[in-house]
Formats: sequence, C-alpha cells, structure tokens
Amino acid sequence: MSQARIPITDTGFTRSDLTYDVVSVWDGAFFRLEEHLARFERNCQRLRLQLPHDRAAVRNILIELIEASELREAYVEMICTRGPSVNGSRDPRTFANCFYAFAIPYVWILKPEDADVGMAAVIARTARRIPPGSVDPTVKNFHWGDLTKGLFEAYDRGADQALLLDYAGNLTEGPGYNVFAVVERRLLTPSTGVLEGITRRTILELAAAEELETRETQVSEQDVRRATELFATSTAGGVMPITRLDGQPVGDGTVGTVTRRLRDLYWAAHVSGPFVTRVLPELRADTGASPWATSNVSKA
Ligand SMILES: *Cc1c(COP(=O)(O)O)cnc(C)c1O
Repeated sequence: MSQARIPITDTGFTRSDLTYDVVSVWDGAFFRLEEHLARFERNCQRLRLQLPHDRAAVRNILIELIEASELREAYVEMICTRGPSVNGSRDPRTFANCFYAFAIPYVWILKPEDADVGMAAVIARTARRIPPGSVDPTVKNFHWGDLTKGLFEAYDRGADQALLLDYAGNLTEGPGYNVFAVVERRLLTPSTGVLEGITRRTILELAAAEELETRETQVSEQDVRRATELFATSTAGGVMPITRLDGQPVGDGTVGTVTRRLRDLYWAAHVSGPFVTRVLPELRADTGASPWATSNVSKA
C-alpha cells in the first residue's frame, strides 16, 4: 500500500477536492455494494466531479480488487479527485478528474475483542462540526480538521472518541461514524448535519423490523447525556457501543440490550439476504457471520 502512487499535484491531495466511499467485504462478500456505488456517484455529481468510469466499470474494479487480493474481510475505498492542476491553474473546470481504489484488511474503529467493554467518548468542547453551509457533511469528504481536533481532545481527556455538536448545540457525529442514543426507549439519531451512513440506514431498518421506535430528529446535548445506551455506526466496525461519556458511565456502563441486539442483527445481515454480493466462496456459514465467531473459524 505504501508504494501506491498518485500525482503530487492532484488537488485531491493539495485541496482535499474529492469525494470517496468505503464499502466492506465480509466473508468474501460485499455488503450493500449497490448503495455504496449509488452514494458515491451522487456525491461526485454534487461536487461536479466527472467520474472517469461508469457504475459497471467501478463495480468491476472493486470486485477485481477482492479477487486479486483474496481479502475475505476487507475495507474497500474508492476516491474521485478533481485531478492534477495543470500549470498551476486554479480553475476547477479545467481539470481531468481521477479515480482511485484500494482494498486493505477490514478496519475496526473498535476491535472485536474490546467490543464488550465499549468505547469512552467525550462531547468535544474544542471543536464544533463544520457547518453544512461550508462543507456538505452528506458528501463523504477529507475535511477532517474538526474531527481530528476532537480526537486529540478525547485523548487528552483520557477517552477514545469525540462526539461533535453543531453550532446550535445538537449532536452531529464523530470521526467517521454516526451516533445513536436510546432515550426513553426510543432510538434517536441526528437527522441533519451528518453523513447519511449506510450502517446508520441499516440500523434504522433493522430496528424498525424489530418494532423498536426509531427517530431521525434533532438530538440535543441533553438527550446524549441522559441516554441509557449510546453507540456509533460505521462500515469500519459496524455497531460500536459507547459505554462512557465525559468520564461517566452510560446507563449502567455495560453494553446495553438494544445495542447488542442490533449488533447481532447487523452481522447476521452479512451472511445472506439482499445486501450480500458474493465474490469469494463463503467460509463462515457454519460458525455464523459474527466477528465473535472468528476464533471458531481459525480452529476449524
Ligand atoms: C463514512 C462516514 C460515516 C459512516 O458511514 P457508513 O456509510 O456507515 O460507513 C459517518 N460519518 C462520517 C463523517 C463518515 O465519513
């Protein structure tokens, strides 16, 4: 990976002028591949980026990455940049836009062996989420200044993760993940000012099928503080419990029943069903899809 080359004048690098998407491969199959491809295409259009490949070609490139690498559990990233500036031009209309893609072993924001302990988060004091009128948070982007600042604050305060508020004091998201709160038995997640995560959407659908009451709504700082369960969602790790907030336990400080149930359903949806695009043969069928069955797989 460290040998991969990009032109150093690509404005994706010098100006963060790009969009990207990340799709996972679990047990040799892509999860919700079509939704990731559609979101990527839509986000390119919003930034007036012209993808040099059509959807079928992008899909084939991603499939080839998995066939060639034989990565059974992978983090697959696709990027469309504005492209290299020619002769120092700053006119974005004149650039030839570029496409890049790579696959690396699956990335865990929270490692499965730490999943029963959960993450310690802070509500960031030193950073607010960049306003949607400046950088559209629904377009996946590399403008991570606010998120990285939040992470440093979290580490300084003895935590792992930072939740960012917007300028009205409502919850937005964290570094690369959406956030859910169980408040008065309802599952809440911010409706605006966030990346519309595909894991987030999956959790909303799975929760609705369980007849859990869900709401995409404004989530105040107060709601976050009185939540009985908190969790983060991302393609890089799935459903990740947050069990401490600003040094205090969330609920009783253990992983809650709603979080556990949704995490199990999330991984079960990776085995078979409408979300699965198989590339490599299935190996986990007998042991279950969940990462907690990994040790069984290696013993078998
Ligand atoms: C990618 C990302 C998410 C999570 O989206 P998924 O589609 O679930 O992986 C949430 N917030 C930000 C800022 C992101 O970049």
